[in-house]
Amino acid sequence: MNAEIIAIGSELLTPFRQDTNSLFLTEQLNRLGVEVSFKTIVGDRRPDLINVARIALSRADVVIFMGGLGPTEDDLTRECVAETLGRPLKRHARIVEDLRARFAARGWKMAENNERQGDVIDGADALDNKRGSAPGQFLHIDDQYGHAIIVLLPGPPHELRGMFEEHVFERLKRLVPAQHIATRELKIGMIGESMVDKRAAPIYKAAQGVETTILAGTPGEVQLHLRAQASSFEEAQKRVDALATLLEDEFEDAIFATKGESMEQIVGYYLGMREKTLAVAESCTGGMLAARITSVPGSSRYFLGGAVVYENSVKTALAGVPPLLIAEHGAVSSQVAAALAEGIRNSCKSSFGIGITGVAGPAGGSDEKPVGLVFHALADGSHTEVIERTFPGDRDRIRHWATQQALDMVRRKLM
Ligand code: ATP
Ligand code: MG
Repeated sequence: MNAEIIAIGSELLTPFRQDTNSLFLTEQLNRLGVEVSFKTIVGDRRPDLINVARIALSRADVVIFMGGLGPTEDDLTRECVAETLGRPLKRHARIVEDLRARFAARGWKMAENNERQGDVIDGADALDNKRGSAPGQFLHIDDQYGHAIIVLLPGPPHELRGMFEEHVFERLKRLVPAQHIATRELKIGMIGESMVDKRAAPIYKAAQGVETTILAGTPGEVQLHLRAQASSFEEAQKRVDALATLLEDEFEDAIFATKGESMEQIVGYYLGMREKTLAVAESCTGGMLAARITSVPGSSRYFLGGAVVYENSVKTALAGVPPLLIAEHGAVSSQVAAALAEGIRNSCKSSFGIGITGVAGPAGGSDEKPVGLVFHALADGSHTEVIERTFPGDRDRIRHWATQQALDMVRRKLM
């Protein structure tokens, strides 16, 4: 079964308000095994709303309208859906009386307009709204549009949420054939999106009944989202797992997370498990690496600290890099990266030291050392590994790439 979610409100077409309700509804519908095929946003205009309703009913089994159930002239959802279906609206005296009583309880007199909120599409169930004035509606049709389930919900997010959970979920569950969805999220490090796509595409083809999405994350991270739907959860899980295994065979240790974890979480997990500690000396990343590492709760168990060593003399003062080494090879060099890693490891007495030095740009590049060139070093006391990369993108992306590369070196060392 597939669904279309329609958000109604001209404010949702401005830069100031976003349709967030559909995210909640998509999650809930997926739990029921209903796939969302379309999301539509439409302003408060009668012809547009009718047009959108007609199209939705012709292409979706479940159509959820939200917003525009208020009492004012620009709240048109009830009228427009009724008109699209060719059904009359019937005013429910009980709803109008309830509304009148609510107003009276606050010492207000209800405006004439509010009576419109008692209008229910012929054949629909009215859904009680504990949190606001607009009732929702639930309707099951079998007419010129074929079989369809139609739901009208109020726009305010807390009202919509409450009403869905109290009245809509169970009703849908009874009408929707049982379907279960299983998902997996694989993250791949330090390979570009197009390369990941190229290598993954033939594998996808071989996998039956699994939907896949590729998403570029932060620089140095590509996500593969796998999703399968079946009549039992076990079957759905079996399908995503089978595809995940094939992808793991293809990408091997480039896959750093299989349940959506971040690179810094994974690195922290390995350091904690192996009871190792880490210190960093960062030049071009200016503390970004330390910030990423310490964003993980509990990182004090394995992260000792380090230094931002921007100026050459500070590389010497805080990480013990010999001035002659800098004079001979330049601050951006494999030798200086290694000396940073070893120096910070010594001064912090950590198991591992990381050194990063590079040209983040936009200025400061040369033919020999272009913008994007970064040296990353990892010292463990007996051996120092250096990786040289030239990253694409602007200053921010280059710096992020560099932190990702450095974290990936630690991960590979410990896995
Ligand atoms: P009311 O009786 O409050 O008028 P309503 O059903 O007519 O209810 P709207 O007027 O469309 O709802 O929206 C009420 C509030 O909810 C507005 O602040 C609106 O911006 C917000 N809202 C509406 N639709 C959405 C949506 N899809 N996502 C997030 N917020 C929304
Ligand atoms: Mg309104």
